[in-house]
Amino acid sequence: MNLKQKLDNNIRLTLEDGIALYDMDLIELGQYASKIREKKFDRKTYYNVNRHINPTNICKDVCQFCAYSASRKNPQPYTLSHDEILNTVSQSVKNGIKEVHIVSAHNPETGLQWYLEVFKKIKAQYPQLHIKALTAAEIHFLSEQYNLTHSDIINMMIENGVDSMPGGGAEIFDETVRKKICGGKVTSQQWLDIHKLWHNKGKKSNATMLFGHVESRKNRIDHMIRLRELQDETGGFNAFIPLVYQKENNYLKVDKFPDAQEILKTFAISRIMLDNFPSIKAYWVTSSIKLALLAQEFGANDLDGTIEKENINSAAGANSANGMKQNEFIELIKNSGFEPVERDSLYNELV
Ligand code: SF4
Repeated sequence: MNLKQKLDNNIRLTLEDGIALYDMDLIELGQYASKIREKKFDRKTYYNVNRHINPTNICKDVCQFCAYSASRKNPQPYTLSHDEILNTVSQSVKNGIKEVHIVSAHNPETGLQWYLEVFKKIKAQYPQLHIKALTAAEIHFLSEQYNLTHSDIINMMIENGVDSMPGGGAEIFDETVRKKICGGKVTSQQWLDIHKLWHNKGKKSNATMLFGHVESRKNRIDHMIRLRELQDETGGFNAFIPLVYQKENNYLKVDKFPDAQEILKTFAISRIMLDNFPSIKAYWVTSSIKLALLAQEFGANDLDGTIEKENINSAAGANSANGMKQNEFIELIKNSGFEPVERDSLYNELV
């Protein structure tokens, strides 16, 4: 059976098939991805009203692509106090957020209790607020710092109010590329194992892929297939989020950046390869809002959220520092021919 026959008959694609999808005409590829998207979601596009908080940029790791960590080209270390975090949450709750998304650098000074206490305080004050916090990379870092198992950390997160896990820290699973761009932090297998543990607790998470740097198309498809295999086992992923590499203020030498066509193809291929993932998210922060809106025609059904403030990608050149207004989001989605639907963190539609 050739590739188009497989696509026409919804046959699961192999690594070689996935690589070959990149050679397909962009519009034709988009049509295949759209067909799958429309079957699942029709013209609905999800967004959520959320707040990102990045409590500290002091990091013991030195990822080559990172512009956020204070030890790199950004010389302004900071750590928010619990009061500062709670004040931010309080203001954002008044603005109508349903989720707080807390991810950070690997700061040896803040410590496990520091995190657990802030989660507990947020949950005690705002029990209705969904806490999405700690990437698998952060969980691994904390487990090493405190000589605890991943499972121990996960249990403590749940006990202290964390509801779901973000998908960060996955970068690219290929071990050679990973060693080059972020050697020293959580390995690919550890990242997958941590999400598996989390899913086995009956909890949901997301998965990311950082692309457009030194990885190959094959590396991207391999990344998707490793996620697809775990999703077959657990069914615990809500969304796959291809993150477009941001090139400013870091130390990674990249010869060629992906053009819009390559980015849109990657969204479409994600939708086709990840046949067991409900949502494909075009995270507007890294793709730009224009490409994120276009990605709706290439399989993406979710544009993430209003976020209010963002430090990690904006440090590397993304135009995201001040988030997006909800009414602006709604208008942009409507004007692009889709139906905006506010969702909660677990993809329940909010009316
Ligand atoms: S990507 Fe995260 S772990 Fe790596 S240097 Fe930056 S803040 Fe630290």
